[in-house]
Amino acid sequence: MTFSNFNLNPRLAAGVTALGYQTPTPIQQQAIPPIMAGRDVMGLAQTGTGKTAAFALPILQRLEQGPRGRVRALIVAPTRELAEQIHQAFNDLGRQTRLRSIAIYGGVGIGPQLQALRAGADIVVACPGRLLDHVRQGTINLTQVEVLVIDEADRMFDMGFLPDVRRIVRAVPEQRQTLLFSATMPDDVRGLVREVLRDPLTVQIGHSAPVETVSHAVYPVAPHLKTPLLTELLRATDTGSVLIFTRTKHRAKKVAQQLERAGFRATELQGNLSQNRRQAALDGFRAGTYRILVATDIAARGIDVLSISHVINYDMPDTTDAYTHRIGRTGRAEQTGTAYTLVTPEDAIAVRDVERVLGQKIERRTLPGFDYRAAPPAQDREFARDPRPIQGMRRSTPARDSQWAAPAQPMRGPRNAPTGGYDRTGARPRP
Ligand code: AMP
Repeated sequence: MTFSNFNLNPRLAAGVTALGYQTPTPIQQQAIPPIMAGRDVMGLAQTGTGKTAAFALPILQRLEQGPRGRVRALIVAPTRELAEQIHQAFNDLGRQTRLRSIAIYGGVGIGPQLQALRAGADIVVACPGRLLDHVRQGTINLTQVEVLVIDEADRMFDMGFLPDVRRIVRAVPEQRQTLLFSATMPDDVRGLVREVLRDPLTVQIGHSAPVETVSHAVYPVAPHLKTPLLTELLRATDTGSVLIFTRTKHRAKKVAQQLERAGFRATELQGNLSQNRRQAALDGFRAGTYRILVATDIAARGIDVLSISHVINYDMPDTTDAYTHRIGRTGRAEQTGTAYTLVTPEDAIAVRDVERVLGQKIERRTLPGFDYRAAPPAQDREFARDPRPIQGMRRSTPARDSQWAAPAQPMRGPRNAPTGGYDRTGARPRP
């Protein structure tokens, strides 16, 4: 199948060519025809599958007909970064259509958004909170909306946005086309689908992409040796752009600083940064000024940087879904990627849960030459233990094994324990 099968008008076909897309991705193959036919569609697909173009192309094709300068398509997304990316995709794909897209989100001045709205936009890509501010103030007119897209509905739910999404749905006409995308289908999202979609067609792209295009490995290590191991791993590995995940904002900041001090071009992306600094980090990472971005899950939501060769989980994610979401940042659009996870003995069961979802065993690796026996520095105990218990995935008990955190009893090295010191059941290594 090629894009010509969709009978896109020449201006949109030019947009597709300009972006270098040759073959439609599976979600595009399945979703574009019914969306173009006007049906409501529920897309079970994660970021990285090409889902943005799957809804953007049919929307642009539809909007080319009819009046200009009124909001006829509304896309609701959970984070500013994702909203920006979707907005950018509309701009890139629709460059020749002269349709106007604007992005609306909080954390930035409202002035430019008001100006853009007054100037007339055809497509609005928005985060729920700021969009509702505009609705309440009467500064946006949603009465002409023909297509509503709810993107990453499961994240919207995770972030507590579902009530806002329902308010938004009430602010748009009942007579409309509705598209909803979600990587997973928790009950609340299923409920939303029943409420807001009409006779929807379900299009499902399984969690297969991470297995097929991403190779996975875990590096067992004691908590206090995570940063030294990460540093050595980065030195020893040939990488493109690297995205590193930590479990807390503070750890993202700290790890980025440690890597910078070790001579890497690294920066951080986490929720405590101002919008300007977040944008600068993202732009710098995309442009290659920074080779390494250390981020939290929420801040990194939807990051769309095609050259990410490695995703490294500095901390094991909280849920198997979060693991899939994180590694969805690499191995995108038919490229291959690598996912490394630094795991402590506490993560043993979480690793097994991930293996179950992936349907494969993840290779345990040790880094040759790395001193797994090193004691933690006397001063800095910061990383001598995990930041907080993992929720959402079953975990081993007892939750904490003092042997792993105590400086006087450093972790056994690979010479003694080839798997890095613990077995899959999370049991303490035998002396
Ligand atoms: P998305 O899942 O929408 O975030 O898309 C993931 C990445 O794949 C983005 O960088 C898109 O520009 C890219 N992409 C989308 N569709 C295609 C395609 N048919 N061929 C190549 N790359 C694509």
